[in-house]
Amino acid sequence: MRFVLFDEARLGCLEGDEVVDVSSLLPDSAWDRRDGPLAEVIESGAVETIRAALGMNALPRLPRSKVRLSAPLPRPGKVVGAPVNYEDHQHEMNEALTVAHLGVFLKAPTAVIGPGETVELPYLDKRVDQEGELGVVIGTRARDVCEADALSHVFGYTCVLDITVRSTEDRSTRKSFDTFAPIGAVVTTADEITDPNDLELRCWVNDELRQESSTKAMIYSVPRLIAYVSSVMTLEPGDVITTGTPAGVGTLQDGDRIRVEIGAVSTLEVGVSAANAVAYDARPGVHALLR
Ligand code: MN
Repeated sequence: MRFVLFDEARLGCLEGDEVVDVSSLLPDSAWDRRDGPLAEVIESGAVETIRAALGMNALPRLPRSKVRLSAPLPRPGKVVGAPVNYEDHQHEMNEALTVAHLGVFLKAPTAVIGPGETVELPYLDKRVDQEGELGVVIGTRARDVCEADALSHVFGYTCVLDITVRSTEDRSTRKSFDTFAPIGAVVTTADEITDPNDLELRCWVNDELRQESSTKAMIYSVPRLIAYVSSVMTLEPGDVITTGTPAGVGTLQDGDRIRVEIGAVSTLEVGVSAANAVAYDARPGVHALLR
């Protein structure tokens, strides 16, 4: 199944060029959740009810072109990031260390935006990069799981852009500005993805193909990453792990369009704006440094 959130607060399943509206199958409480109605489906296990209802073909259908998609998980409980999880990216960044040394970082859940929204560059004079990444959506609570069991805790997969400013700030700061975690457009359930470590990943900025790789090249595979993260923190339903980026990161500018495409998982496209950018030395609190 290919889940989307559309028209502000409707949950749908993409089937070909149509969106099947499955909203009527959800309890009222699903719409009050800050993490969105898909999190209710993940947590309650309602996915099998939805699968059965789709099979009966009695739900409303809309052409995909007539709906506006938004982030499928608008405020995940947490967004866990893998730094330096591809060797070619390690080399382009001249990094001595990889995920195996660095562990993981957190991105603020408030950084999430959806397809068609706009990444806002914070600083006029600091480089901001796109990082196209496979996102893993957790299905069931995972604490200290082994690699062999790790994939059984996955609900599905999506595209994530781990937007990053190259400043002196800490990694979690540099990756947590509002709009720095575009997610979507689709969450594809794990049963449709044979091997999350055999997916083609491509990322364009405007017409330039900047990143072209396979998730085969990850240093920590998806199961190893889940096992490791679950040894640090409990993973909960609806949490997102963004699995790192291959080589080809590069500077974003006002007016750019970023597009990520990952195998059968999803595509995701967002814009870029510098309309609210300020000088790095004009950020609040910097005076303590300069004193
Ligand atoms: Mn990244």
